[in-house]
Amino acid sequence: MSIDRIADKVRASERLSQDEALELYRTAPTPLLGQLADLVRARKHPERRVTYIIDRNVNYTNVCVARCSFCAFYRPVGSADGYVLGFDELFRKIDETIAVGGGQLLLQGGHNPDLPLTWYEDLFRAIKDRYPAFRLHALSPPEVIHLSRLSQRPVPEVLDRLMAAGLDSVPGGGAEILVDRVRKLLHCYGKATADEWLDVMRHAHRAGLRTTATMMYGTVETDEERLEHMLRLRDLQDETGGFTAFIAWSYQPDHTELAGTEATGLDYLRTLATARLVLDNFDNLQASWVTQGGKVGQLSLAYGANDMGSVMIEENVVRAAGASYCMDEVEIVRNIEDAGFVAMRRNMHYEILGGPVFRDQAVPRMLELATARADGDTSVPGELRNYPARSRTGKQLRVIDN
Ligand code: SF4
Repeated sequence: MSIDRIADKVRASERLSQDEALELYRTAPTPLLGQLADLVRARKHPERRVTYIIDRNVNYTNVCVARCSFCAFYRPVGSADGYVLGFDELFRKIDETIAVGGGQLLLQGGHNPDLPLTWYEDLFRAIKDRYPAFRLHALSPPEVIHLSRLSQRPVPEVLDRLMAAGLDSVPGGGAEILVDRVRKLLHCYGKATADEWLDVMRHAHRAGLRTTATMMYGTVETDEERLEHMLRLRDLQDETGGFTAFIAWSYQPDHTELAGTEATGLDYLRTLATARLVLDNFDNLQASWVTQGGKVGQLSLAYGANDMGSVMIEENVVRAAGASYCMDEVEIVRNIEDAGFVAMRRNMHYEILGGPVFRDQAVPRMLELATARADGDTSVPGELRNYPARSRTGKQLRVIDN
């Protein structure tokens, strides 16, 4: 089918097939792709609002047995650089988040064999006891699968227990590309196959949790596989309607085993625009300024994005791989308004909370992202003694501790 005919289908609100989307993705002029994506965005969000959330991206541990080849963040079990954050450290981070108007933690971490399911339950309960209104957007599908394997309990039961302890919603991390050929090449097939990732989300949606969906592109996948990823998400969204948003970001190669080069800004904008056209049953698409920088992040608003994601007080994973862009609320709002949109603060369910916080109260400027821990801090949280360790190193440490 010609590009003009496919573009007409988009204008007529007809669903694109994989072949049609691939044709557009590969051959449509970039301004046309942007125009079509902007048209679809405007249909879904006619009020010209662009949203963002104030939250903190906290990585509770960097110890991980998965060892994905694209990851610069993890440390193997027993590494001197490995850490687990203590409950008190997490409370302090929540206090700082609340002080700048935030109401949520995005809590993700490595697959640490020394943190049993009960550690997560106790942590979530402790946070909810102390901060009842605070939201926990936590544990991507591979972390849930890891906990299911570690506790030898089925995924639905793990999710039920985490929800009972305070889990509010599930982030869509760990999807990378939902095609098993790619997952095997990236050493992430073991942590979750494409079907397993989707199945956790299916169970989460059935249990009443809303989740996001992500895509990390630019490693070893083909164009067809990027499209296959989007179509698998579209199919599950048809089935459950549980995804709130889609977020694409480019692979960050620095300090990773896989290495290579980063996808360009144009590749990002074309991928984002194509996602807006293919994912016709997703309301929200986030701009990934964390990987693309503020300027391409702002341009994303003309290529299908309607959300600037998180103000993100802290970031560790992308920074470990070389990207260190930072925007506080003032800067995000400036970028949104300068692009001709109305900036609105939202929660994880994309419900509008109000206008920018800094216009109503004095909040400190955050010109640098915080890190999980100050350099050189190797402290081990005392409460870890309460939990049985699974790894040999962890067991030895617990003996020394006791
Ligand atoms: S991407 Fe996640 S699961 Fe993979 S090695 Fe890094 S921390 Fe572990």
